[in-house]
Amino acid sequence: MPHRPVWAEISLRKLVANYHRLQALAGAELMPVVKANAYGHGAQVCAAALTAAGARWLAVTDADEGVGVRSVCPGARIVVLSGIWPGEAEAALDHRLTPVVWEDYHLEELERAAAGRGMPPNSVAVHLEIDSGMSRQGIRLRPQAASFDLEPFAQRLRACSHLRLEGVMTHFCEPQRLSASRENPQIAILDAALATLAGFGLAPELLHAGNSSTTVAGADRERLRRLASRFGAEPLLRPGLALYGYLDRFQVEAPDSSSGLASGAAPGTSPPEPSDFQPALAWKTQISSLRSLDPGETAGYDHTFTARRRTTLALLPAGYADGLNRLLSNRGHVLIRGSRAPIAGRISMDQTVVDVTEIPGSALGDEAVLLGTQGQLAISAWDLADLAGTIPWEILCAISARVPRLTPAGEEMAPECAKAPPDAPLDAPPDRI
Ligand SMILES: *Cc1c(COP(=O)(O)O)cnc(C)c1O
Repeated sequence: MPHRPVWAEISLRKLVANYHRLQALAGAELMPVVKANAYGHGAQVCAAALTAAGARWLAVTDADEGVGVRSVCPGARIVVLSGIWPGEAEAALDHRLTPVVWEDYHLEELERAAAGRGMPPNSVAVHLEIDSGMSRQGIRLRPQAASFDLEPFAQRLRACSHLRLEGVMTHFCEPQRLSASRENPQIAILDAALATLAGFGLAPELLHAGNSSTTVAGADRERLRRLASRFGAEPLLRPGLALYGYLDRFQVEAPDSSSGLASGAAPGTSPPEPSDFQPALAWKTQISSLRSLDPGETAGYDHTFTARRRTTLALLPAGYADGLNRLLSNRGHVLIRGSRAPIAGRISMDQTVVDVTEIPGSALGDEAVLLGTQGQLAISAWDLADLAGTIPWEILCAISARVPRLTPAGEEMAPECAKAPPDAPLDAPPDRI
């Protein structure tokens, strides 16, 4: 149990409810994304809960994270989204990880390691990424252009006798933009890539693309399913953010009258309500000191907060080193006794000061909610993101490693959590100080 009272409560019950909700909407198998320590929620506990709930596939950032997830999920298939770095092939084979590949060195490292172990032919599954427009990673293909890069890669892949092309994947640039009439050009590129691979006798069993937005609302989800079925592959979708309880903001385009489509929302173009998903993480601290200021006195670095009246300030032992974005200084608020307490002055590295003048009775040990609900009020990762000029993905990932992740009070210790190793503690929140 932590002594410094700042912690995050991770509701595996909500995570799993979000997963079931997504699975019901998807119409295809899901590959839950637990990269970046499950968006700050704890990759091992989340992966264990998701596999206990039925997930067979998981996606992680890198081999290190894959090794950690493997220790609690012995049966899951674990896809390593960032590929492998030189020297990681042995770990990938030891822990049965499934790397995404697109660079020659990915193939060389894996083939050499597999040959060195005398592994049988076709025994190492890899997933090939197609860069269909992100210009980030993957083999680059362009609309209406010959697949110059894919053909030699397909040849090299075929020459690696230990490797088996199990899956092909891509990533969409703007999955939150919904349109019944606009074809996603990235799907046409994926189509061309599958045709090229088929020409080399390479027929992947799996085709995966799409994020949370695609899973809950995309017309692209249906296009992806049709494409997979034309090539005899199983489609998989890769939601991340919605598992943790948030949806992106959809941009629904009006139906294009010139396209001849009937007006009104076409199937798959109206997103579900954000309230269908429940944030799995709450971030809390407690008042650890109180003081009164006379009018004209200031608080924090650079005097950016000045008391206009007799003011009561409360100290919270959480700062930007915990991941509380410094851009929330003098802009954000926290929840205390069911009311909003504005952040007063600059957020410091380890502390934040809030104005509780209008919250009578504020006392040492009072719970302060940085992210989550208290009484009738809530602060969401979208609220913090809007104030800090960023996105909820970054708000969640920024909650730093020194903030312990705990089980919310009243939530049964799920059996799968018992499998979590000691470095991923989940226990009760601290008592009041
Ligand atoms: C992060 C990521 C996802 C999940 O995206 P969300 O928007 O969080 O649902 C899916 N696929 C890839 C390749 C990713 O990097």
